[in-house]
Amino acid sequence: MLFEKVLIANRGEIAVRIQRACKEMGIKTVAVHSVIDRDAMHVRLADESVCVGPASSKLSYMNMGALLSACELTGAQAIHPGFGFLSENATFAQAVQDHGIVFIGPTPEHIRVMGDKVEAKKTALSLGLQTVPGSEGEISTLEEAHSISDKIGYPVLIKASAGGGGRGMRVCHNPCDLKEHIEHASAEAQSCFGHSGVYIEKFLACPRHIEFQILGDHFRRVLCLGERDCSVQRRHQKIWEEALCPVLTPSQRNQMYTKIIHAMERFGYQGLGTLEFLYEDGNFYFIEMNTRVQVEHPVTEMIYGLDLIRLQLQVAQGIPLSYTQDDLRPFGHAIECRINAEDPENFCPSPGKISAYAVPGGPFVRVDSALFSGYTVPSNYDSLISKLVVWGITREECIARMRRALHEYVISGIRTLIPLHLRLCDEPDIQNATYHIKWLESYLSGQN
Ligand code: ADP
Repeated sequence: MLFEKVLIANRGEIAVRIQRACKEMGIKTVAVHSVIDRDAMHVRLADESVCVGPASSKLSYMNMGALLSACELTGAQAIHPGFGFLSENATFAQAVQDHGIVFIGPTPEHIRVMGDKVEAKKTALSLGLQTVPGSEGEISTLEEAHSISDKIGYPVLIKASAGGGGRGMRVCHNPCDLKEHIEHASAEAQSCFGHSGVYIEKFLACPRHIEFQILGDHFRRVLCLGERDCSVQRRHQKIWEEALCPVLTPSQRNQMYTKIIHAMERFGYQGLGTLEFLYEDGNFYFIEMNTRVQVEHPVTEMIYGLDLIRLQLQVAQGIPLSYTQDDLRPFGHAIECRINAEDPENFCPSPGKISAYAVPGGPFVRVDSALFSGYTVPSNYDSLISKLVVWGITREECIARMRRALHEYVISGIRTLIPLHLRLCDEPDIQNATYHIKWLESYLSGQN
């Protein structure tokens, strides 16, 4: 089915990003918004807009009934969920389909399987991907937890099967603390995700987080659009992302691309997806799959010269992929800095009114944001307010350009992570790409 009108069930920069692709494709857009977002950029730029509830995202952006009604009301044929909110909710994807509307994403079953981390690991194993050593499924008794942890060796990581966004995870360094950590992780999982099940994994010392971008059409063809290195993290949240990964050799990456394409073709995956791995001592360990577009997708777009949202909309319309893996030629290097409305020292959220706003420009600089001067960043939603993405022919040039663009970027009235990113550009470990997933936290605590 060719789309004439798409409803975007999201807000902020990703809603604007999706609108941009739709507009360039001649597709009309419907924005949905909460009461406090009525003057937001994503509403101003849309062809139509519908208020779907009060400020609380549970009652608005995650209000399935209101979103489906908005679709019926406006005659939108498809829903783009963006990321976060209902993007990985299999019940929502199914409900959308049941209403005769296209859900722009994979099948509800694929979302369900990959949304349960235990099932995702089992599936990845069965598709020939290596996973982090640990329990085979959720742990049911303390004895089982002890015997698995003794077998794989401490430290171990207790993770919520329903986890996401770095929540519901606890590191345990010795057997005496195991019971307490399991109880904490379970309680946190229950309160965040409504499911208390946890599993155990070996806690890897200093791995890198490397993830592979894939795109599948409805004809069992899958492309791998390279990888991203997202090792610069704080509390399991990515801050700085790059493509391609600066430390992989061409043969390592091609081996992984082949393996992943084969696995995902067997799985019959449709749409955009990302397979996340931890990489240590030359080994890749699958940790999870995200069945949606990711925050950091622009770095991939920059090096391939492709619009991933356009491609996502095309495959959702049943159009076969028009590229082969051999057609894909990454070029140069790209880096994304996440600009959060947070204090750059203590990371406290910093919502409020933007008194002055000036975006950087010049060659190969991209800003994905929904900010404008006079806009008030609400406290109700995620603190990600802008993504600064730059491209360079070499990684070195890319970092120099990022530093220059960060200096040009003016966001007054609130605190942001810009000063932190400026410091990162000057760090030898960043410049030499000798970082891993624990690097940023030890840097921030002054241990580097
Ligand atoms: P979430 O869905 O909550 O983001 P992930 O499974 O993707 O959870 O893990 C998020 C981050 O947590 C990873 O990028 C990594 O930094 C860290 N992590 C996850 N599993 C392990 C592990 N077994 N050992 C060490 N760090 C891990």
